[in-house]
Amino acid sequence: MKFFITGGAGFIGSHLAERLIADGHEVWILDDLSTGAMTNLDGILEHPKFHHRIGSVTNEELVAELVDRADVVYHLAAAVGVKLIVEKPTHTIETNVRGAEVVLQKCAKKGKLTFIASTSEVYGKGVKLPFSEEDDLLFGSTTKSRWAYACSKAIDEYLALAYFRERQTPIVITRFFNTVGPRQIGRYGMVLPNFVRQGLAGEDITVYGTGEQKRCFGYVGEVVECLMRLTGKPEAIGQVFNVGNNQEISINGLAELVKEKTGGRSKIVHVEYDVAYPDGFEDMERRIPDLAKLEAAIGYRPSMHVSDIVDRVIEYQTEVGA
Ligand code: UDP
Repeated sequence: MKFFITGGAGFIGSHLAERLIADGHEVWILDDLSTGAMTNLDGILEHPKFHHRIGSVTNEELVAELVDRADVVYHLAAAVGVKLIVEKPTHTIETNVRGAEVVLQKCAKKGKLTFIASTSEVYGKGVKLPFSEEDDLLFGSTTKSRWAYACSKAIDEYLALAYFRERQTPIVITRFFNTVGPRQIGRYGMVLPNFVRQGLAGEDITVYGTGEQKRCFGYVGEVVECLMRLTGKPEAIGQVFNVGNNQEISINGLAELVKEKTGGRSKIVHVEYDVAYPDGFEDMERRIPDLAKLEAAIGYRPSMHVSDIVDRVIEYQTEVGA
């Protein structure tokens, strides 16, 4: 089959492209290389079934051309990373809303199966755990720019569902929960690549806030597996799915794990949020996905333990650097 991935040089996109090529498919990717990198695609760049274009997902002609070529479209291009989002809210809102609008318009015109990547951020400050797809969303004030990301992704979801209802466009929405693994970079705030870089360098491991906040880290290879399985399920069309892992770990626990696995030279230090992030930041305490709907649809249960995930990230950063 033929696949088009927006954001295909990014962290999740490049793993997905590799998997599709390994399965014998033809793949086109589009990426503006803002947070992605062509080096992520080193393993498949010369493959005859792999094709790439450098450009923006808001470039209508380019997106139309690539949608035309594909049987399935994965829209993964987005402004991501809490740091980037808080520092560049205009860019975040415009890229995420306009990008999805262009992709959905073109896909709707041609009736192409379209995956819209969303995020656990859309649950916002919800306190009823675990987060289930039909739950209410609870955003903070508009003066806290972090929520611009959640709202922009919620708009993408509304738009995709609107296309499905009004025009029967075959869409699937996936809410990714803290996806981690090789190739993720720490520059935009993501905690695991940051901690591993700090640990390997023997620098202080910087835990923001009390470190008692918890997250569930999903391994990128498993996330890609979920996307592959959902692609083959007509019942998934018009649906929203949580995708990730449901084992929780505190950020203090993660820091300890990384410290131990990187040789123990680092000191774990706690940094106040207002030092770590510019104004407009607000963290959330816990975030666990309810994976029942995903399991019922594709028979998936996460199996990769956070300790093994940390090993893979250490291995990657030791080989290629952070
Ligand atoms: N965090 C941290 N140190 C870092 C980066 C992040 O303690 O160097 C914390 C962050 O404040 C949050 C958690 O780790 O509580 C996860 O952050 P990340 O940006 O990876 O994902 P989020 O779940 O916030 O989207």
